[in-house]
Amino acid sequence: MVTNKHLLFLLLLLWLLMLSPGTATAKWYRQDAAIMGTAIAVDLWDEDEPRGRALTKAVIDEMHRIDDLMSTYKSGSELSRINARAADEAMPVSPELLALIQRALNFSGLTGGAFDITYASAGQYYDYREGIRPSSQQLAQALPAIDYHHVRIDPQASTIRFLYPGVRIDLGGIAKGYAVDRCIAILQAAGVKSAMVNAGGDTRVLGKHWKQPWMVGIRDPRNEEGLVTMIPLEDTAISTSGDYERYFEKDGVRFHHILNPRTGMSTSGVRSVSIIGAEATTTDALSTSVFVMGTEPGLKLVDSLPDIEAIIIDNQGKMFYSKGLDRLR
Ligand code: ADP
Ligand code: MG
Repeated sequence: MVTNKHLLFLLLLLWLLMLSPGTATAKWYRQDAAIMGTAIAVDLWDEDEPRGRALTKAVIDEMHRIDDLMSTYKSGSELSRINARAADEAMPVSPELLALIQRALNFSGLTGGAFDITYASAGQYYDYREGIRPSSQQLAQALPAIDYHHVRIDPQASTIRFLYPGVRIDLGGIAKGYAVDRCIAILQAAGVKSAMVNAGGDTRVLGKHWKQPWMVGIRDPRNEEGLVTMIPLEDTAISTSGDYERYFEKDGVRFHHILNPRTGMSTSGVRSVSIIGAEATTTDALSTSVFVMGTEPGLKLVDSLPDIEAIIIDNQGKMFYSKGLDRLR
């Protein structure tokens, strides 16, 4: 029988254990936040409580830093200042932003212009929350400004200039993946062996989760609660672009946030594209790109790239897999 005395003793022991310094607190640490207009989450395993907490905070701080640099919603961000003036004069740009813009331009070349950060020349006139889209006059005026060749970077001088009036750039199709990669690099440098960093549709995992691969779900594009499949991942990134993230409907047409640079309008061939690859900057840019390209040209591109895989759900709900994922078919 457990007497009151026993109980008191046990409680005292528990209390002493909790107070004793150096107690190992190896466990999972998790932090959620809303940054870059999306849900951010970090999960990591660490042996030490102050360190585990400091590292989750470092991830959130890094997300804020990148948002402050690249957001088009913040008028004071470096990117907003460039957008405001680069059509008139060459603007100085930080090495970090210059490098990401250069990578974005490389993806334009790789995808035949499907990925194009100057989409924003028309994209700036959409407000998905308010159900607003550009008038045909605005669209006609913006279209010639959509062309990544209008963006001229001078790496020596570290400047950027737009060669056409009305050009706007937006890194929404690549910046979250970049942020996820930066956060994973911070965790790797700190010796973390097991972690997952997620920013909306962009995820990258380090190591395993409880000796098993991490399981990342791919959402059913027409059912918020449903998953179409779960993918086991280790030391890999996955990005999903969907027509359900930011959209409104008018007269039976879905206006969503991924635009065809040729038309300045939402594309309609697919509902969701997931890309799997080593790092999230690439998977993010490619998920947006393949979304614009559509199923057949998209799969052809993916199959031509080493160590990149894709899962596409087309506008009929049919699933397509790249060659390396034949086993999932
Ligand atoms: P999410 O932002 O939901 O993770 P994506 O990674 O597919 O989804 O990115 C979509 C974002 O990419 C849009 O919100 C917009 O900022 C940007 N974007 C839209 N169309 C293009 C395009 N053709 N090329 C490059 N970026 C684009
Ligand atoms: Mg993307």
